[in-house]
Amino acid sequence: MESVNICPYFGTRMKLGVIHGDRYRLKWIPNQENRGLMLQWFSKGIKFGHSIESSYCEECRKIVIDVESKSN
Ligand SMILES: [Zn+2]
Repeated sequence: MESVNICPYFGTRMKLGVIHGDRYRLKWIPNQENRGLMLQWFSKGIKFGHSIESSYCEECRKIVIDVESKSN
């Protein structure tokens, strides 16, 4: 079954794709925890792997990312 992602802002179909980090894992950190690079490494956040599946809306130029469940 093909899943179609619809833009939550514009209601159009979004393009599926991948965001690629090159060497480092990517992590989303809330603003209040974002205090310099060294601290970022230790702060809690939402970890991604080296690549993130995402959908891109060409109308709004936004990317929507699905966050996986908290297993790691
Ligand atoms: Zn959109």
